[in-house]
Amino acid sequence: MAFESLAGRLQETMKKIRGKGKVSEADVKQMAREVRLALLEADVNFKVVKSFVSRIQERAVGQEVLKSLTPGQQVIKVVQEELANLMGGDQTKLNFALKPPTVILFVGLQGAGKTTSAAKLANFIRKANNKKPMMIAADVYRPAAIKQLQTLGGQLNIPVFTLGDKVSPVEIVRQGIEQAKAEHNDLILIDTAGRLHVDDVLMDELEQIKAVSHPDEIFLVVDAMTGQDAVNVASSFNDRLDLTGVIMTKLDGDTRGGAALSIRSVTGTPIKFVGMGEKMDAIEPFHPDRMASRILG
Ligand code: GDP
Repeated sequence: MAFESLAGRLQETMKKIRGKGKVSEADVKQMAREVRLALLEADVNFKVVKSFVSRIQERAVGQEVLKSLTPGQQVIKVVQEELANLMGGDQTKLNFALKPPTVILFVGLQGAGKTTSAAKLANFIRKANNKKPMMIAADVYRPAAIKQLQTLGGQLNIPVFTLGDKVSPVEIVRQGIEQAKAEHNDLILIDTAGRLHVDDVLMDELEQIKAVSHPDEIFLVVDAMTGQDAVNVASSFNDRLDLTGVIMTKLDGDTRGGAALSIRSVTGTPIKFVGMGEKMDAIEPFHPDRMASRILG
C-alpha cells in the first residue's frame, strides 16, 4: 500500500507524544527530527521537508500548544494540518466551462496512465456531474494508443473521435471539438502523446493543441511510483503549459509517497484526482485532509 512505511514511522513518532501531559521544547525537537527523517526516507523533496519541519516546529512550540491542556494531541493536530496544507489544503474542484463544452487536456510521459485516466475521468464526470462526454484520440505516435482509447470508450459507451494516425494531432483536436459541438457533447477529453522524456517537440505540439482547444483543465498525469522524477516532470510541463492540476496514478502501488507530498509545494499545482487501480472505476477526487489523517492514523 502507498505510504505504508511513512505512515508507520510517523505514527510511531506521534504515539510517543500523544499522551504527554507536558511537552517540552526538547520533545518537539525530537519529534521534528523524526518527522524530518521519515519524510526524507519517503523521498519527499528536501527543500519541502526543510520548510515543513520548521513550520511544524514553530507552531508546536507556540504558546497555544504548550499551554493547552492536551499538548501532545495539539502537536499531532499541528502536524496533521500542515501535512494536509502541504498537499494543497482543501480539495480542489474541477473547473467547468461557463459556456459548454468543458475541455480537459491530458498530458504526461508515456506509461504514466494518460489514456486510462482520460477514460476513467470521462466516466467519473459523466456520473458525478451528469455530462455527455466525448474523447479525442490525439496520440498518433504510439500506434496502440488510439485502439486502446477506442476499446475503453466501447466498454464505457463513450464516443471516441479519431482521424487515425496520419493526421496531425492539432488538426485532430480542431476537428474533434467541432464534431463534439455538433453532437452536443458538453465534455471533451483529449488524450495526447507522451514521450519517454520531456522534449521540445512534444512541448511545442502540446502548446499548439492548447491554443486550438482552449482547455478548462490541463491535467498532468504522473505515476506516483516515479518519486522525485514525477516532481521534475511536473515542473517542466508546468513551465510550458500552465497546468491546472495533477492526476497522480498508481497510488494503489507501494509508492513511498514522495511525489504526492512534494508536487504541490514545488510546482504550485494541486493534485485533483488519484488513480487507485487499473479498473475503470479506480479514480477518486483527492482530499489532502483525508490523506493526511490516513498517513497519521
Ligand atoms: P499512457 O501511456 O500515459 O497513456 O498510459 P496508459 O493509460 O496506457 O497506462 C499505462 C499502464 O498503467 C496501463 O497498464 C494501465 O492499466 C496502468 N495504470 C494506469 N493508471 C493506473 C493506476 O491508477 N493504478 C494501477 N495499478 N495501474 C494503472
